[in-house]
Amino acid sequence: MADFQTPALREFPIIPLLHEGTMAHSRPFVAKPEHQASVGFPGELVENWEQKAVDKLGELVSKSRALQVFLDSCVKCGACTDKCHYYLGTEDPKNMPVARQDLLRSVYRRYYTFAGKYFPKLVGARDMTKDVLDEWYTYFHQCSQCRRCSVFCPYGIDTAEISMAARDIMDHVGLGQKYSNEIIGKVYKIGNNLGLPEPALRDTLEGLEEDVKDETGVDVKFPLDVKGADILLITPSADFFAEPHIDGLIGYAKVFHAAGVSWTMSSYASEAANFSMFIGSHDNLRKVALRIRKAAEDLGVKRIVVGECGHAWRVAYSFWNTLAGPFDFLDPNYPVPQHICEFTYDLIQRGKLDLDKSANDDLVVTFHDSCNVSRASRMGDMPGGQFKIPREVIKACVNNFHDMAPDTIHESTFCCGGGGGLLTDDLMELRVKGAMPRMQALKEVVDEHGVNHIAAICAICKSQFTKVLPYYKFPMDMIGSVHGLVSKAIKLGPGNEQ
Ligand code: SF4
Ligand code: SF4
Repeated sequence: MADFQTPALREFPIIPLLHEGTMAHSRPFVAKPEHQASVGFPGELVENWEQKAVDKLGELVSKSRALQVFLDSCVKCGACTDKCHYYLGTEDPKNMPVARQDLLRSVYRRYYTFAGKYFPKLVGARDMTKDVLDEWYTYFHQCSQCRRCSVFCPYGIDTAEISMAARDIMDHVGLGQKYSNEIIGKVYKIGNNLGLPEPALRDTLEGLEEDVKDETGVDVKFPLDVKGADILLITPSADFFAEPHIDGLIGYAKVFHAAGVSWTMSSYASEAANFSMFIGSHDNLRKVALRIRKAAEDLGVKRIVVGECGHAWRVAYSFWNTLAGPFDFLDPNYPVPQHICEFTYDLIQRGKLDLDKSANDDLVVTFHDSCNVSRASRMGDMPGGQFKIPREVIKACVNNFHDMAPDTIHESTFCCGGGGGLLTDDLMELRVKGAMPRMQALKEVVDEHGVNHIAAICAICKSQFTKVLPYYKFPMDMIGSVHGLVSKAIKLGPGNEQ
């Protein structure tokens, strides 16, 4: 384990005292020129970068009225200051959302407001300097773009948008983050974040077919590149590879089998994740989204279902239509896109799945709402469907369920600590400290109700929890996929086909 102190979990949450500069050393690895090139950015800091950064900021503000309003309207009321998990976990005041915003706002004021141009000191305006750029790189990579702060801001100021804009500017002047940019490059080259080529993917899926046959005696298929299938499943590539993600994929396949639908995955678009959102790059966001459209058209499917991935669901639900739509070639009788939880919930509602809750009786389950699902999307045709539907799916599969405290779930959920392109080992200290508020809420239900399992519908949350749970003395295998629970409960075989 890394060399830093894991925050203590307290009985009651406290607002920490300020400790300036405690996370000033935390910076992710910088992208190498080849990583930058693969996403269309200069390989290193360009000449005259100061002016180019200022120009890019001006361009972003002129294109996004929201960004301008966010930069103009903060009244320093302080309501957001104690709402960020990174501030609560690190005690560094620059991790207060308002302070993070001010890193960009101070430069915006200097170059794009009357007061900042003529009386910079009076309004906290700053020149674009190397020190400012370094501070941006440090603290805009301590924001998981979770949007929790925006829920509590009376003006709805969204620090995530400001963080995305800052990262976009840095990329444009040649200072990118290795983790996110390298991953996006892999999607272009191979089709997924993991760099898993088509033959390896096919092997994995065939192996899963054998495993499920051994376990259930039933021929559950994991089809790849099947032209003319009704449903294209777009899922995070972590689902092909690692525990507990893969249990989720097995669960989706069993649900499709039980529903008797024809479905396929695509080796060309074998990734739901779209890290371009994290770097605020519209061009890359579109390019990755278009791969999914192309796969759907090439395979001739009628529907697209999205697997368990938080930010991918935000991109799909909120942005696909603008980025890659219209999806008028799909069947209009179904939601475009549809979340796997919506798909399973619909079958449960119609009594089409045979679920044995007692198969999960070894578990006392809680649910972690993922940020991008909770605060940036929806499910179903009801307000709050993104909270209700996954819980209803879980409750149909388990006898023991307890939610965490109300101020830590639904739209107030705490980030896992690894979202927004921060799920990289070079940021482990930040990830562990940022997970503290979620771990605290978890400890409460562990102590009060004997919870021993957290279900989640986000690949990043699952990977993050696997790593950070042990730092807080919880077992790493306490985290699981919602469809991992479905997989255990579902009864297949003779008499259960629909
Ligand atoms: S978006 Fe999330 S991580 Fe970023 S400042 Fe707000 S609360 Fe913190
Ligand atoms: S809550 Fe909103 S207005 Fe108040 S300090 Fe934070 S960002 Fe500014």
